[in-house]
Order: sequence, then structure tokens, then C-alpha cells
Amino acid sequence: MSRDPRYDVLFEPVKIGPVTAKNRFYQAPHCNGMGRTFPSSMAAMRGVKAEGGWAVVSTEQIDIHPTADITPATEGRLWSDEDIPYLARMCDAVHEHGSLALIEPVHNGKWASNLYSREVPLFPSHMPSGDNNIPVQCRAMDKADIKAYRRWHLDAVKRAKKAGFDIICCYAGHNLSLSGMFMLPRYNFRTDEYGGSLENRVRLFREIIEETKDAVGDTMGVSVRFAVDELRGAEGLECHKEGREIVEMLAELPDLWDVNVAEWHNDSITSRFSEEGHQEPFIDFVKKVTTKPVVAVGRYTSPDRMVSNINKGVMDMIGAARPSIADPFLPKKIEEGRIEDIRECIGCNICVAWDMMKAPMRCTQNPTKGEEWRKGWHPERIDPKKDDGTVLIVGAGPSGLEAALATGRRGHDVILAEASDELGGRVTRESKLPGLNAWARVRDYRTYQISQMANVEVYKESELTTEQVLEFGARHVAIATGSRWRRDGYGRNHQFPIPGTDGANVFTPDDVMDGTNSIVSLGGTVIVYDDDHYYMASVMAEQLVADGCRVIYVTPESVAAAWTSLTMEQVRIQAQLLEQGVEIIASHLLREITTDSVTLECGFSGVTKKVSAAALVMVVARLPVDDLYQDLASDPDRLAAAGIETLKRIGDCHGPATIAAAVYEGHRFARELGEEVDEIPFRRELTGLADGFKLP
Ligand code: ADP
Ligand code: SF4
Repeated sequence: MSRDPRYDVLFEPVKIGPVTAKNRFYQAPHCNGMGRTFPSSMAAMRGVKAEGGWAVVSTEQIDIHPTADITPATEGRLWSDEDIPYLARMCDAVHEHGSLALIEPVHNGKWASNLYSREVPLFPSHMPSGDNNIPVQCRAMDKADIKAYRRWHLDAVKRAKKAGFDIICCYAGHNLSLSGMFMLPRYNFRTDEYGGSLENRVRLFREIIEETKDAVGDTMGVSVRFAVDELRGAEGLECHKEGREIVEMLAELPDLWDVNVAEWHNDSITSRFSEEGHQEPFIDFVKKVTTKPVVAVGRYTSPDRMVSNINKGVMDMIGAARPSIADPFLPKKIEEGRIEDIRECIGCNICVAWDMMKAPMRCTQNPTKGEEWRKGWHPERIDPKKDDGTVLIVGAGPSGLEAALATGRRGHDVILAEASDELGGRVTRESKLPGLNAWARVRDYRTYQISQMANVEVYKESELTTEQVLEFGARHVAIATGSRWRRDGYGRNHQFPIPGTDGANVFTPDDVMDGTNSIVSLGGTVIVYDDDHYYMASVMAEQLVADGCRVIYVTPESVAAAWTSLTMEQVRIQAQLLEQGVEIIASHLLREITTDSVTLECGFSGVTKKVSAAALVMVVARLPVDDLYQDLASDPDRLAAAGIETLKRIGDCHGPATIAAAVYEGHRFARELGEEVDEIPFRRELTGLADGFKLP
């Protein structure tokens, strides 16, 4: 197939100074939890994106000096020539597919607490350092420090050139870069030529750009990544005030402008709180101010929206981090006229959360993400089947759907049996809850792909029993029957049942999603008890408010939905609950439920209090629905007699976790079918031992 001519504009080349991008697809710098710690994984992941058609493939942030040490984060590093080889590996992987490699050298200023290097942190002014309230302060940089910083940046530029990069990004985005921090009046109290007027506050960044340009001459492009607005009103940069003035001041200096809003939680906002293209109102002035090409992100997955942005003059290149993670082949699919094959990002920020936890990135939509080198998984290719056995998959949630799709792609005859009259399992159910609509993409991508495959048959309203599975005649069976929320109160903070959970006024998220409206008919206040700490309790509360209930949200944690700080949603979730009139009782454990009240206990003092409530929704933990699996597995002879060689449980039925984990398990089932798998089922990256070790 060839592409629809209306998308031709997306495949026009773009000049970035002396280098030329072959099309308008620009993989913006993004962290990935691999970086220097898992460098081959990182390089392969970038190479696959180049293969998928991204004309520019960027690194994550690369810290440039021991005073820019953001340990324990696992981003890139370029302190000395010793760091060049792993970055060169990435450049080679990107060049292999004719794309340009971009590097984003960074000094994180106050965020670099230097826990490894033990250097005193640097900043425009004296200021506490880092997050997590680390008891460390930055010192105000003197003139010698500023000079040194310019030299470190320049050294990084020279090393980047040696590594083979084509574009250098001068970074002042996300409130993450020292030269960006100099621009902000709330940080910069200097009285020298680097403080005071806007021109003075921008001086350092201008010097960085000019010196970079001088150093690379016409061998590399120089981009600027700049946050034009911080979404904090007059306290921060605003796109109609200094944000714009800065772009005007530097307009023609770089070869490309990469613009966004700060901080990261505003830039990579989740789909629960934003739509595709949410940054356009902030950045759309930039093209009017500069003649240089402009790139911006906005979780773009719709080629029509991309084309319209180019035609309207909002941007020249389509920036993407998350859409390129969910589908590294997004450009190729548009180019080949296969837009229905695009695996659209759902905006859940599981990728971000894993990076925040300093672990290799995972993606809900793309189970191969992070596995390109480690397991040799390619997002678009899978080995043909090793035998002719039929595959039976029981349960069509995200795990069962992915297992059916991937075994089908290997060429197996596949039967997917689903008990209910809908496909998608938890994804279908949860996507009907407030704000989670985009999550249905996990189902929609897979059901469409499966519908195009003659070798995959889908049966709805087919709840299978042990006997039926045995009679099927399948050689390989995956049980993907999911999980159910617990009612008994066992959770992270409760290892004993909570008295009263057998009452008729205690509900689970499954009851709410099943549409049990008896909660609403009970009238009075509903308590949502959160000992899960991800999104579920908060969307339960929002759903109940929408249904007309008065809601009190109780959690043993100090904030609502505590874990969502890692998906960068916690503040927005708590704000939204408060705006909706939900009362939040934090740091309290649930001790007892009666027909008209609950007893809560302060997690610190142990003091108890009674709160009137007509009903309680228990959001604590889940149990696998694995009775079918257990029954089948209990009798290996019976399995053998039925001709079943493989019996696996996958997804939430194996271990209740994220949707990303369920999709991964479904994919893994398919990849490993008929393959020898080592006890450590992936390639490891080991730190090389230093030469000449001697005790001090
Ligand atoms: P996962 O996240 O692991 O994919 P889900 O809970 O989303 O799990 O999906 C499990 C699916 O399995 C649900 O759609 C459920 O209706 C289905 N299911 C459960 N038991 C059976 C069964 N015995 N036969 C067929 N389908 C089943
Ligand atoms: Fe998108 Fe979620 Fe994948 Fe991140 S993890 S790329 S937000 S689908």
C-alpha cells in the first residue's frame, strides 16, 4: 500500500542548519530508565525508532559533569571520553536507518544533588537542592563557576561530535537545566551581568548556544529546547510575556526551536487530564517569531491532526516521545498507508513511572518496549510458529487479546474465548470510568488487528469450563481470566480481615463497574477506602460523585492516590477530588464497618474516630481468577490425554498488576511458545570491572 497523498506533507525533508531530516517526524528527547545503566538496551530502542521512520531520534537528558550528577536516576552521562562509546553505539543504530541522532546535554542545576560525586550543587543563587527534601543546599555560582560550566558544556558538545551525533540540543526546558534556571526571577537573585534584566538572565543561555554553534560550525545542527510557559501564572514564565520575549531575543540563533510547557508533568500530561495537542495554545506563537523550523509535542497519534498543524503553521516537525514509545513505527505506518495499524499511546504514563522508579521503561501499548536488545523483541516482527498446534486463549482482556494477536502473527490457528459479550476485559470496564476513555485503545488496536486475521477466531459469551478446555483439541492453552477486587480488606496496610466487610453495604470496584446501583440507592455518604494507591480509588470517587453521592476518600497514605505521583498525576487527582467536593481523610486506617458508620484509626497516634457512612467501596487489592487454571494444572495426565502440551496462566490471572504487565504477559506467551527459554530469560548488561584494583 502507498500513503494517502494528504499525508505527503509529513514526508517532506526539513533542514536543521547543515543537516537535513528526511521527514517531519521528530522523536523528542525522552528518559527511558535505561540510559547509561543499560546502554545496549537504550541504543537498540533508539535504533528501532529510526527503523520505524523517525527522521530525528534523540537521547534522553545527558548529564555533563560531576556537578551535574543526578544519581540515582538512570539517564545518560557524558563526563569524559570514556562515555563516548555507548553513545556512539546509539548513533550507529540510528544512522543505520538513515536518521539523524540528536543529543541533549544537560546540567540539572538544583536538581543535581550530586549524591554520587559529592560535589556541592550549583545554582544561580543559594537554594535548597533536589527533591525529596534532601538536606543539601546549592551554592550560588560565581564567575569562575559560570566560566567552568560553559566549558563543560562545550566539552560535552565536542565529545558528542566524536560520538557521531548530528544535532546538539541546547536545553532550557522543563525547569531542568541550569541555563534555563538562570532565566527565572524566582531563582535568580544575582546582581552581576547574569542577573536582573531579562537580557542578563538570558545571557548564559545565549552564550551556550553561541559557543555551541561556533564549536560545531557547519558539521552539526543546533537546536534549542525551551519551555515557553510554566503554567504557574506570574510566578513563572508565561508565553505571552517573558516566555515569548526570550524566543524573540534568540529567534534566529538556533537551527531549530523545540518548544513546550514546563514542567515535565505539564508537558507529558496524562490523557485523564488532557487531549492530544494540549500545548498548541501556548506554543503557536513561536513560528510567527522565528524563521527557523519549529517542533512541538502533544501526544500526537492522528496523522490528520499532524497535517493540520503543519498546514496551519503551528509547527514544522511533529515532536513525539510517548507516541514513539507506544508505536516506534508510527511514521512508517503513515508512509505505507496503514494508519489503522498505528498502536496509539493511551496517555497512561506507565513509561514515565518506570523511569521515575529508575527501572527500564515499560509501555502499556507496546510490550516490546525496553526488550528490543534484552530479549531481541522487535515491535513489528515475530518469528513464525515452531509447530502446527492450535492455540486456545481463555479470556479476552488485554492479556488474552495480546496473546491471541501475537500467536496469530506467528501463524498459529488461534481461538479466543471470552465469557462476557464484550472484548477487552478490565480495559473495557475501566475505560468507562471518568477520564479513562483513551485506555480503550488497548482493546481497539488489538480487536481490529485480530479482525483482519483469518487464523484467529473469537467467541464471545463463551465461558469455558475445565471439560470444555480439555475437549477443545488445542495443543497450547493460555488462561487469561483476570482478577477480581477483594472485599475483605486485605491490602498493603491490612494483613487481617477488617470486621464488617461481609456486610451488604460493602462494595468493590467490580460492583461499581458492573453497574450495581444499590450504592446510590442506599443514599447517604459513601466511603471510598484506598489501600491500593494507584488510580482506581480516585476514579471510583469521581464516578460516585457523578452518580450523585457524597463521598469521603480515606487512605492510610498522606495523600490520595499516592503512587500516581510517579505517573505525574497525583496533584491533579487530589485537586480534582477536592474540586468535586470529595472530603479526603489521609493517614487513617479502616478498622471496622457497621451498617451506618466506619471506624477509622490515625496511622500515627492510633486515635480512633467514627464516621457516618451508608456504604463503603473497598479499593485494596485483587485476587487472581485462577480456578480454571488451577483445576487444569492439577492433573497433568488429563492434560496429556487431551493433547495439551502447554498450559500457562497469563496477565492478572497470573499476578494482578498493571495493564502494561498483562499485555506483556500475553506477548511473552506468544514469543516463548515452542522456544527454549533460559532460566534468566533475557540478556543482562553488566558493569565492566575497573583494571588494577587494589585495596587502599
Ligand atoms: P487481564 O488484565 O489479565 O487481561 P482481565 O480481567 O482484563 O484480565 O480479563 C479477563 C477476561 O477473562 C474477562 O473479560 C473475563 O470475562 C474473561 N473470563 C474469565 N473467566 C473466563 C472463562 N472461564 N472463560 C472465558 N472467559 C473468561
Ligand atoms: Fe503511552 Fe502509556 Fe505507553 Fe507511555 S506507557 S507510551 S503513556 S501507552
